[in-house]
Amino acid sequence: MAGIVVKPRSRIFHGHDWVYSSEVHKMFGKPEPGDVISIKDFKDRKLGTAIYNPESQIIARRFSRRTQKLDTDFFIRRLERALSLRETMAFDDPVYRLTWSESDGLPGVIIDRYGDHFVLQTLTLAMDQRKELIAEALVKIFSPASIIERNDSPIRKAEGLEIEKGLLYGEAPGRFQVTVKGINFAVNPLDGHKTGLYLDQFDNYQAVADLAKGRRVLDCFCNEAGFALHCARNEAQSVQAIDSSEPALDCARENADSNQVEIEFTNANVFDFLKESEAETPPYDLIILDPPSFTRNRKSVKDALRGYKEIHLRALKLLSKDGILATFCCSHHVNRKMFLDTICDSAVDAKATLRLLSSHSQRQDHPIVPTIPESEYLKGFIFQKMATW
Ligand code: SAH
Repeated sequence: MAGIVVKPRSRIFHGHDWVYSSEVHKMFGKPEPGDVISIKDFKDRKLGTAIYNPESQIIARRFSRRTQKLDTDFFIRRLERALSLRETMAFDDPVYRLTWSESDGLPGVIIDRYGDHFVLQTLTLAMDQRKELIAEALVKIFSPASIIERNDSPIRKAEGLEIEKGLLYGEAPGRFQVTVKGINFAVNPLDGHKTGLYLDQFDNYQAVADLAKGRRVLDCFCNEAGFALHCARNEAQSVQAIDSSEPALDCARENADSNQVEIEFTNANVFDFLKESEAETPPYDLIILDPPSFTRNRKSVKDALRGYKEIHLRALKLLSKDGILATFCCSHHVNRKMFLDTICDSAVDAKATLRLLSSHSQRQDHPIVPTIPESEYLKGFIFQKMATW
Protein backbone atom coordinates (compact mmCIF):
# COMPACT_ATOMS: atom_id res chain seq x y z
CA MET A 1 0.00 0.00 0.00
CA ALA A 2 1.28 3.47 -0.87
CA GLY A 3 1.56 5.97 1.92
CA ILE A 4 3.04 8.83 3.84
CA VAL A 5 5.82 9.15 6.37
CA VAL A 6 4.78 11.83 8.82
CA LYS A 7 7.15 14.40 10.30
CA PRO A 8 7.88 14.18 14.00
CA ARG A 9 5.71 16.44 16.20
CA SER A 10 2.80 16.26 13.73
CA ARG A 11 -0.70 16.50 15.21
CA ILE A 12 -1.25 12.77 14.64
CA PHE A 13 1.17 12.16 17.53
CA HIS A 14 -1.18 14.16 19.75
CA GLY A 15 -4.30 12.15 19.09
CA HIS A 16 -5.50 13.86 15.94
CA ASP A 17 -6.39 11.85 12.82
CA TRP A 18 -5.41 14.44 10.22
CA VAL A 19 -2.15 14.90 8.34
CA TYR A 20 -1.59 18.33 6.79
CA SER A 21 0.53 18.55 3.67
CA SER A 22 3.07 20.53 5.73
CA GLU A 23 3.41 17.49 8.01
CA VAL A 24 4.48 15.08 5.26
CA HIS A 25 8.11 13.97 5.53
CA LYS A 26 7.92 11.86 2.37
CA MET A 27 5.58 9.79 0.28
CA PHE A 28 6.08 6.19 -0.81
CA GLY A 29 4.33 4.54 -3.77
CA LYS A 30 2.07 6.52 -6.06
CA PRO A 31 -1.40 6.85 -4.55
CA GLU A 32 -4.25 8.28 -6.61
CA PRO A 33 -6.51 10.96 -5.12
CA GLY A 34 -9.15 9.23 -3.00
CA ASP A 35 -7.05 6.11 -2.40
CA VAL A 36 -6.61 4.35 0.91
CA ILE A 37 -3.03 4.79 2.10
CA SER A 38 -0.82 3.78 4.96
CA ILE A 39 0.62 6.25 7.48
CA LYS A 40 3.96 5.69 9.12
CA ASP A 41 6.19 7.48 11.56
CA PHE A 42 9.83 8.32 11.10
CA LYS A 43 10.94 4.93 12.37
CA ASP A 44 8.78 3.07 9.84
CA ARG A 45 6.17 2.16 12.47
CA LYS A 46 2.59 1.95 11.19
CA LEU A 47 0.21 4.57 12.52
CA GLY A 48 -2.80 3.29 10.63
CA THR A 49 -4.80 3.61 7.43
CA ALA A 50 -6.00 6.88 5.96
CA ILE A 51 -7.81 8.39 2.99
CA TYR A 52 -5.72 10.51 0.68
CA ASN A 53 -6.43 13.73 -1.18
CA PRO A 54 -3.48 15.78 -2.41
CA GLU A 55 -5.85 18.58 -3.47
CA SER A 56 -6.75 19.29 0.11
CA GLN A 57 -4.53 20.95 2.72
CA ILE A 58 -5.50 17.99 4.86
CA ILE A 59 -3.71 15.48 2.69
CA ALA A 60 -4.65 12.41 4.74
CA ARG A 61 -7.27 11.51 7.31
CA ARG A 62 -6.78 8.35 9.34
CA PHE A 63 -9.86 6.17 9.75
CA SER A 64 -8.28 3.14 11.39
CA ARG A 65 -5.21 2.40 13.49
CA ARG A 66 -4.96 -0.94 11.70
CA THR A 67 -4.65 -1.95 8.05
CA GLN A 68 -8.16 -1.57 6.73
CA LYS A 69 -10.04 -1.65 3.41
CA LEU A 70 -12.96 0.64 2.62
CA ASP A 71 -15.56 -1.89 1.52
CA THR A 72 -19.25 -2.40 2.25
CA ASP A 73 -18.46 -4.56 5.30
CA PHE A 74 -16.35 -1.77 6.75
CA PHE A 75 -19.21 0.70 6.33
CA ILE A 76 -21.70 -1.74 7.81
CA ARG A 77 -19.51 -2.19 10.89
CA ARG A 78 -18.98 1.54 11.37
CA LEU A 79 -22.67 2.36 10.88
CA GLU A 80 -23.72 -0.39 13.28
CA ARG A 81 -21.39 1.05 15.89
CA ALA A 82 -22.71 4.54 15.28
CA LEU A 83 -26.25 3.23 15.64
CA SER A 84 -25.53 1.39 18.87
CA LEU A 85 -24.12 4.59 20.37
CA ARG A 86 -27.26 6.53 19.35
CA GLU A 87 -29.38 3.78 20.86
CA THR A 88 -27.73 4.34 24.23
CA MET A 89 -28.75 8.01 23.92
CA ALA A 90 -32.37 6.88 24.12
CA PHE A 91 -33.93 9.46 21.80
CA ASP A 92 -37.72 9.30 21.94
CA ASP A 93 -37.90 9.71 18.18
CA PRO A 94 -35.58 8.31 15.47
CA VAL A 95 -34.46 11.78 14.43
CA TYR A 96 -30.76 12.25 15.01
CA ARG A 97 -27.32 12.53 13.49
CA LEU A 98 -26.25 8.94 12.85
CA THR A 99 -22.65 9.69 11.97
CA TRP A 100 -20.59 12.74 12.78
CA SER A 101 -17.48 12.36 10.66
CA GLU A 102 -14.24 11.63 12.58
CA SER A 103 -16.22 11.21 15.82
CA ASP A 104 -17.69 8.05 14.28
CA GLY A 105 -14.53 6.93 12.52
CA LEU A 106 -15.85 8.09 9.13
CA PRO A 107 -13.95 11.21 8.05
CA GLY A 108 -16.23 13.47 6.05
CA VAL A 109 -19.34 11.30 6.36
CA ILE A 110 -22.34 12.98 7.94
CA ILE A 111 -25.62 11.10 7.99
CA ASP A 112 -28.81 12.53 9.49
CA ARG A 113 -31.74 10.28 10.16
CA TYR A 114 -35.34 11.44 9.93
CA GLY A 115 -37.20 8.22 10.71
CA ASP A 116 -37.05 6.12 7.56
CA HIS A 117 -35.35 8.86 5.54
CA PHE A 118 -31.59 9.38 5.57
CA VAL A 119 -29.64 12.41 4.42
CA LEU A 120 -26.03 11.80 3.46
CA GLN A 121 -23.16 14.25 3.06
CA THR A 122 -19.77 13.06 1.84
CA LEU A 123 -17.36 15.91 2.41
CA THR A 124 -14.10 14.14 1.59
CA LEU A 125 -13.04 12.90 -1.83
CA ALA A 126 -12.49 9.28 -0.79
CA MET A 127 -15.87 9.03 0.91
CA ASP A 128 -17.55 10.78 -1.99
CA GLN A 129 -16.10 8.17 -4.35
CA ARG A 130 -17.61 5.47 -2.11
CA LYS A 131 -21.03 6.93 -1.47
CA GLU A 132 -22.71 4.00 -3.23
CA LEU A 133 -21.08 1.64 -0.72
CA ILE A 134 -22.26 3.81 2.16
CA ALA A 135 -25.78 3.78 0.72
CA GLU A 136 -25.58 -0.01 0.35
CA ALA A 137 -24.59 -0.34 4.01
CA LEU A 138 -27.47 1.92 5.07
CA VAL A 139 -29.90 -0.19 3.05
CA LYS A 140 -28.64 -3.42 4.66
CA ILE A 141 -29.01 -2.07 8.20
CA PHE A 142 -32.08 0.15 8.02
CA SER A 143 -34.10 -0.79 4.91
CA PRO A 144 -34.77 2.93 4.53
CA ALA A 145 -37.54 4.57 2.53
CA SER A 146 -35.04 6.97 1.00
CA ILE A 147 -31.41 8.04 1.04
CA ILE A 148 -30.83 11.57 -0.12
CA GLU A 149 -27.51 13.09 -1.00
CA ARG A 150 -27.20 16.71 0.10
CA ASN A 151 -23.71 17.53 -0.98
CA ASP A 152 -24.25 21.24 -1.31
CA SER A 153 -21.88 22.28 1.45
CA PRO A 154 -19.21 24.78 0.35
CA ILE A 155 -16.70 22.78 2.43
CA ARG A 156 -16.51 20.37 -0.52
CA LYS A 157 -14.55 22.93 -2.51
CA ALA A 158 -11.50 22.38 -0.31
CA GLU A 159 -11.53 18.74 -1.48
CA GLY A 160 -12.01 19.66 -5.14
CA LEU A 161 -15.58 18.35 -5.10
CA GLU A 162 -18.57 19.76 -6.95
CA ILE A 163 -21.92 20.64 -5.43
CA GLU A 164 -24.32 17.71 -5.83
CA LYS A 165 -27.75 16.81 -4.60
CA GLY A 166 -30.13 14.01 -5.44
CA LEU A 167 -31.76 10.74 -4.59
CA LEU A 168 -29.39 7.82 -3.95
CA TYR A 169 -31.96 5.23 -3.00
CA GLY A 170 -35.72 4.73 -2.69
CA GLU A 171 -38.37 7.26 -3.48
CA ALA A 172 -38.00 11.00 -2.92
CA PRO A 173 -40.20 11.84 0.07
CA GLY A 174 -41.03 15.47 -0.74
CA ARG A 175 -41.94 17.57 2.26
CA PHE A 176 -42.90 15.55 5.33
CA GLN A 177 -43.30 16.05 9.04
CA VAL A 178 -41.27 14.67 11.92
CA THR A 179 -42.22 14.94 15.56
CA VAL A 180 -39.52 15.40 18.15
CA LYS A 181 -40.58 15.35 21.80
CA GLY A 182 -44.10 16.26 20.82
CA ILE A 183 -43.20 19.17 18.53
CA ASN A 184 -43.82 18.91 14.78
CA PHE A 185 -41.27 20.05 12.24
CA ALA A 186 -41.51 20.12 8.46
CA VAL A 187 -38.53 18.57 6.67
CA ASN A 188 -37.83 18.65 2.96
CA PRO A 189 -34.51 16.89 2.60
CA LEU A 190 -34.25 16.93 -1.18
CA ASP A 191 -35.66 20.31 -2.14
CA GLY A 192 -35.48 22.24 1.11
CA HIS A 193 -33.02 25.12 1.26
CA LYS A 194 -30.88 23.13 3.65
CA THR A 195 -30.22 19.53 4.67
CA GLY A 196 -32.85 19.50 7.38
CA LEU A 197 -33.19 20.57 10.98
CA TYR A 198 -30.52 21.84 13.34
CA LEU A 199 -30.41 18.57 15.25
CA ASP A 200 -27.45 19.82 17.28
CA GLN A 201 -29.72 22.36 19.04
CA PHE A 202 -32.55 20.13 20.24
CA ASP A 203 -31.43 19.85 23.89
CA ASN A 204 -30.80 23.58 23.91
CA TYR A 205 -34.35 24.29 22.69
CA GLN A 206 -35.57 22.61 25.82
CA ALA A 207 -33.08 24.34 28.13
CA VAL A 208 -34.14 27.74 26.83
CA ALA A 209 -37.85 26.88 26.84
CA ASP A 210 -37.57 25.90 30.51
CA LEU A 211 -36.98 29.60 31.22
CA ALA A 212 -39.62 30.97 28.83
CA LYS A 213 -42.76 30.73 30.92
CA GLY A 214 -44.43 34.13 31.25
CA ARG A 215 -41.62 35.90 29.37
CA ARG A 216 -41.67 38.01 26.23
CA VAL A 217 -39.37 36.10 23.90
CA LEU A 218 -37.38 37.22 20.86
CA ASP A 219 -35.82 34.43 18.74
CA CYS A 220 -33.13 35.97 16.49
CA PHE A 221 -31.94 33.97 13.46
CA CYS A 222 -34.92 31.67 14.03
CA ASN A 223 -34.64 29.54 10.87
CA GLU A 224 -37.46 26.97 11.25
CA ALA A 225 -38.22 28.40 14.69
CA GLY A 226 -36.94 25.59 16.91
CA PHE A 227 -36.40 27.90 19.87
CA ALA A 228 -39.53 29.94 19.27
CA LEU A 229 -41.77 26.85 19.01
CA HIS A 230 -40.43 25.40 22.23
CA CYS A 231 -40.82 28.70 24.08
CA ALA A 232 -44.36 29.16 22.79
CA ARG A 233 -45.21 25.65 23.92
CA ASN A 234 -43.83 26.44 27.34
CA GLU A 235 -46.25 29.28 27.98
CA ALA A 236 -44.14 32.26 26.99
CA GLN A 237 -46.16 35.46 27.27
CA SER A 238 -45.37 36.32 23.64
CA VAL A 239 -42.92 35.05 21.01
CA GLN A 240 -41.39 37.01 18.18
CA ALA A 241 -38.99 35.42 15.67
CA ILE A 242 -36.69 37.00 13.09
CA ASP A 243 -34.92 35.59 10.05
CA SER A 244 -33.79 37.07 6.75
CA SER A 245 -34.65 34.01 4.68
CA GLU A 246 -38.16 33.75 3.28
CA PRO A 247 -37.98 29.96 2.66
CA ALA A 248 -36.90 29.49 6.29
CA LEU A 249 -39.78 31.66 7.49
CA ASP A 250 -42.23 29.72 5.30
CA CYS A 251 -41.19 26.56 7.07
CA ALA A 252 -41.29 28.31 10.43
CA ARG A 253 -44.84 29.53 9.83
CA GLU A 254 -45.93 26.04 8.80
CA ASN A 255 -44.36 24.68 12.00
CA ALA A 256 -46.15 27.27 14.14
CA ASP A 257 -49.46 26.27 12.52
CA SER A 258 -48.94 22.54 12.86
CA ASN A 259 -48.07 23.00 16.54
CA GLN A 260 -50.96 25.41 17.06
CA VAL A 261 -48.86 28.10 18.68
CA GLU A 262 -48.75 31.81 18.04
CA ILE A 263 -45.49 33.35 16.92
CA GLU A 264 -45.00 36.74 15.28
CA PHE A 265 -42.55 36.33 12.41
CA THR A 266 -40.55 39.14 10.84
CA ASN A 267 -38.38 38.95 7.77
CA ALA A 268 -35.45 41.21 8.66
CA ASN A 269 -31.74 41.47 9.05
CA VAL A 270 -31.19 40.92 12.78
CA PHE A 271 -28.52 43.61 12.95
CA ASP A 272 -30.95 46.21 11.58
CA PHE A 273 -33.88 44.90 13.55
CA LEU A 274 -32.05 45.16 16.87
CA LYS A 275 -30.73 48.60 16.00
CA GLU A 276 -34.18 49.88 15.12
CA SER A 277 -35.86 48.33 18.15
CA GLU A 278 -34.19 50.55 20.76
CA ALA A 279 -36.87 51.60 23.19
CA GLU A 280 -37.38 53.47 26.46
CA THR A 281 -38.47 50.33 28.24
CA PRO A 282 -36.81 47.08 27.23
CA PRO A 283 -39.38 45.07 25.27
CA TYR A 284 -38.08 41.54 25.85
CA ASP A 285 -37.46 39.23 28.82
CA LEU A 286 -35.72 36.45 26.89
CA ILE A 287 -33.60 36.93 23.80
CA ILE A 288 -32.10 34.09 21.77
CA LEU A 289 -29.14 34.70 19.47
CA ASP A 290 -28.26 31.79 17.20
CA PRO A 291 -26.56 33.32 14.17
CA PRO A 292 -24.92 31.44 11.31
CA SER A 293 -21.17 31.13 11.46
CA PHE A 294 -19.80 34.61 10.83
CA THR A 295 -16.47 33.19 9.66
CA ARG A 296 -15.37 30.36 7.45
CA ASN A 297 -11.66 30.92 7.98
CA ARG A 298 -9.13 32.14 10.51
CA LYS A 299 -8.48 35.39 8.68
CA SER A 300 -11.96 36.78 9.22
CA VAL A 301 -12.20 35.92 12.94
CA LYS A 302 -11.71 39.56 13.98
CA ASP A 303 -14.62 40.70 11.83
CA ALA A 304 -16.71 37.84 13.12
CA LEU A 305 -16.04 38.85 16.72
CA ARG A 306 -17.07 42.41 15.91
CA GLY A 307 -20.35 41.00 14.58
CA TYR A 308 -20.91 38.92 17.71
CA LYS A 309 -20.10 41.91 19.89
CA GLU A 310 -22.56 44.12 18.08
CA ILE A 311 -25.55 41.78 18.33
CA HIS A 312 -24.87 41.09 22.00
CA LEU A 313 -24.57 44.75 22.85
CA ARG A 314 -27.81 45.56 21.05
CA ALA A 315 -29.64 42.55 22.49
CA LEU A 316 -28.60 43.45 26.04
CA LYS A 317 -30.06 46.93 25.62
CA LEU A 318 -33.42 45.40 24.70
CA LEU A 319 -33.48 43.00 27.61
CA SER A 320 -35.46 43.71 30.78
CA LYS A 321 -34.04 43.45 34.31
CA ASP A 322 -33.56 39.78 35.21
CA GLY A 323 -34.01 39.03 31.51
CA ILE A 324 -32.44 35.96 29.94
CA LEU A 325 -29.91 35.96 27.13
CA ALA A 326 -29.43 32.59 25.41
CA THR A 327 -26.60 32.84 22.94
CA PHE A 328 -24.92 30.38 20.59
CA CYS A 329 -21.91 30.32 18.33
CA CYS A 330 -21.41 27.63 15.69
CA SER A 331 -18.20 28.98 14.21
CA HIS A 332 -15.31 26.49 14.14
CA HIS A 333 -12.79 29.29 14.39
CA VAL A 334 -14.23 31.03 17.41
CA ASN A 335 -13.61 28.96 20.51
CA ARG A 336 -15.56 29.00 23.78
CA LYS A 337 -13.16 31.39 25.49
CA MET A 338 -13.16 33.88 22.60
CA PHE A 339 -16.93 33.74 22.46
CA LEU A 340 -17.32 34.26 26.21
CA ASP A 341 -14.80 37.13 26.22
CA THR A 342 -16.73 38.85 23.44
CA ILE A 343 -20.01 38.56 25.33
CA CYS A 344 -18.33 39.97 28.44
CA ASP A 345 -17.02 42.93 26.42
CA SER A 346 -20.52 43.61 25.15
CA ALA A 347 -21.91 43.45 28.67
CA VAL A 348 -19.31 45.97 29.87
CA ASP A 349 -20.27 48.34 27.07
CA ALA A 350 -23.96 47.83 27.78
CA LYS A 351 -23.28 48.53 31.50
CA ALA A 352 -24.89 45.21 32.37
CA THR A 353 -23.76 42.41 34.65
CA LEU A 354 -24.47 38.92 33.43
CA ARG A 355 -24.63 35.83 35.53
CA LEU A 356 -24.06 32.54 33.82
CA LEU A 357 -26.93 30.12 34.39
CA SER A 358 -25.69 27.29 32.17
CA SER A 359 -23.24 26.33 29.43
CA HIS A 360 -24.23 24.36 26.35
CA SER A 361 -22.81 22.45 23.43
CA GLN A 362 -23.94 20.37 20.45
CA ARG A 363 -26.29 17.49 21.27
CA GLN A 364 -24.55 14.21 22.06
CA ASP A 365 -25.37 12.66 18.68
CA HIS A 366 -22.63 15.03 17.43
CA PRO A 367 -19.95 13.62 19.76
CA ILE A 368 -16.74 15.51 20.43
CA VAL A 369 -13.27 13.95 20.28
CA PRO A 370 -11.17 16.30 22.43
CA THR A 371 -7.97 15.48 20.55
CA ILE A 372 -9.74 16.51 17.33
CA PRO A 373 -10.81 20.05 18.21
CA GLU A 374 -12.62 20.45 14.89
CA SER A 375 -15.22 17.93 16.09
CA GLU A 376 -16.56 20.56 18.51
CA TYR A 377 -18.20 23.63 17.05
CA LEU A 378 -21.32 24.64 18.95
CA LYS A 379 -20.89 26.76 22.06
CA GLY A 380 -23.77 28.23 24.01
CA PHE A 381 -24.47 30.12 27.21
CA ILE A 382 -27.59 31.08 29.03
CA PHE A 383 -27.15 34.26 31.08
CA GLN A 384 -29.36 36.33 33.26
CA LYS A 385 -29.00 40.08 33.15
CA MET A 386 -28.68 41.04 36.79
CA ALA A 387 -30.83 43.83 38.09
CA THR A 388 -28.55 46.72 39.00
CA TRP A 389 -28.43 47.35 42.73
N1 SAH B 1 -31.83 28.87 15.49
C1 SAH B 1 -31.98 28.10 14.29
C2 SAH B 1 -30.72 27.98 13.48
C3 SAH B 1 -30.17 29.28 12.99
S1 SAH B 1 -29.25 29.10 11.52
C4 SAH B 1 -32.49 26.71 14.66
O1 SAH B 1 -32.25 26.25 15.75
O2 SAH B 1 -33.07 26.08 13.78
C5 SAH B 1 -29.00 30.73 11.08
C6 SAH B 1 -30.20 31.43 10.46
O3 SAH B 1 -29.85 32.80 10.37
C7 SAH B 1 -30.58 31.01 9.06
O4 SAH B 1 -31.93 30.65 9.05
C8 SAH B 1 -30.37 32.25 8.18
O5 SAH B 1 -31.38 32.42 7.21
C9 SAH B 1 -30.44 33.36 9.20
N2 SAH B 1 -29.66 34.58 8.93
C10 SAH B 1 -28.40 34.70 8.48
N3 SAH B 1 -27.98 35.97 8.52
C11 SAH B 1 -29.03 36.70 9.00
C12 SAH B 1 -29.22 38.08 9.31
N4 SAH B 1 -28.25 38.97 9.15
N5 SAH B 1 -30.40 38.46 9.82
C13 SAH B 1 -31.39 37.55 10.00
N6 SAH B 1 -31.25 36.24 9.76
C14 SAH B 1 -30.09 35.82 9.26
